[in-house]
Amino acid sequence: MDADVVIVGAGVVGLAVAVAVARADRTVFVLERATTFGTGTSSRNSEVVHSGIYYPPGSLKARLCVEGNRRLRALAEEGRFAFLACGKLVVAVEPAEIPTLEGLLAVGRANGVEGLELIGAADVPRFEPHVRAVAALVVPSTGVVDSHGLLRDLVGRARDGGALMVYGCRVDAAEPMAGGYRLHVGYLAGGGDTLTARLVVNAAGLDADLVAALPGLDVDAAGYRQEWVKGNYAEVGNGKQRLISRPIYPAPVYHGVRAGAGQAAFSGLGVHATRGVDGRVRLGPDVEYLSGRSEQYGVRRGTAESFYESARRFLPFLEPDDVTPESAGIRPRLAAAREAFADFVIAEESARGLPGWINLVGIESPGLTCALPIADEVARLVGELD
Ligand SMILES: Cc1cc2nc3c(=O)[nH]c(=O)nc-3n(C[C@H](O)[C@H](O)[C@H](O)COP(=O)(O)OP(=O)(O)OC[C@H]3O[C@@H](n4cnc5c(N)ncnc54)[C@H](O)[C@@H]3O)c2cc1C
Repeated sequence: MDADVVIVGAGVVGLAVAVAVARADRTVFVLERATTFGTGTSSRNSEVVHSGIYYPPGSLKARLCVEGNRRLRALAEEGRFAFLACGKLVVAVEPAEIPTLEGLLAVGRANGVEGLELIGAADVPRFEPHVRAVAALVVPSTGVVDSHGLLRDLVGRARDGGALMVYGCRVDAAEPMAGGYRLHVGYLAGGGDTLTARLVVNAAGLDADLVAALPGLDVDAAGYRQEWVKGNYAEVGNGKQRLISRPIYPAPVYHGVRAGAGQAAFSGLGVHATRGVDGRVRLGPDVEYLSGRSEQYGVRRGTAESFYESARRFLPFLEPDDVTPESAGIRPRLAAAREAFADFVIAEESARGLPGWINLVGIESPGLTCALPIADEVARLVGELD
């Protein structure tokens, strides 16, 4: 089998790439080891379409987030998937947290996020009457997407464009050859095969570093090694989920980095409350570094209790038995970065002796928001190589 482009991974990023590169005169395969699309991180996240207030100006995350937000809103307006144009609040519970909100406001404006407004305690009830805050940053462009609807839409459009989805097909090895790569795949059903590809796009999410290593790239030297960082969620029930109407985030905790410097170097965004398009309210995710690579999605013991303690600072109506363990997802985080800011890696590897091999590594949050513009970057690289 010969392909022009092979995309490894049918998460939101691989599927968006398939939509962006599929053309009548190109053979495009999407190889996915699971039995269907979107079973990894793409269906285990907060579903927030981020605005772009957290990322250093000039970074890929900042630019692609603002662009991805705009693109997803436009597609949602066409009725392609469910979307809540609800905005969000980032709240200061104590006056000492207000400078952090001012920092986010400055970063957001520098990144081109529209409509940001810092409000005082008296105005908070206009937005969220049950939330406790001495000030809040109103972020109108944040939304919530039905991630499954988005994934379904992307698969449909990729197929319409001529891309072929192959499920239950794991890419195990890759050898550079003249004009491309020979890929060895193993089928879930048993047996294996080889195919050749002129161009390979590695969109393997949690295993993107392992796939990057297949053609012989030294991932440690390249800084591509990923560690797995779990995020646990708990659900708010007993009717309390109806007391907020948009995601509510605390002021993020910075690690020795001056707020407003644009260095979004904090471990996660703090335990926050998000709404699903179905009205479900979840608390989380937290930040749990995993010691190994085991795709275990059980919720850590004590999650509900600790989330209740964190969230009741700004959701004072919560009682302990309103919060129950719900689910978890795992982020692929660039190991070298630890808790510092790490940008997405979108790299065509000619300079490392692997022409036509494109790696997408460290695609953690806001990867869902950024999938479409990440795919455009890849399509541009593919166009240059074609
Ligand atoms: C807890 C949590 C909360 C998040 N919240 C948000 C949010 O609110 N907003 C936001 O924008 N982003 C969020 N994100 C980030 C977002 O979910 C991810 O960035 C995005 O889903 C990554 O998509 P992906 O396609 O790169 O990876 P994945 O969805 O993991 O897809 C990769 C695919 O590759 C396949 N694969 C791997 N290796 C192979 C192989 N060798 N052969 C074949 N197939 C292979 C896997 O099976 C998988 O299906 C969150 C992430 C987490 C973990």
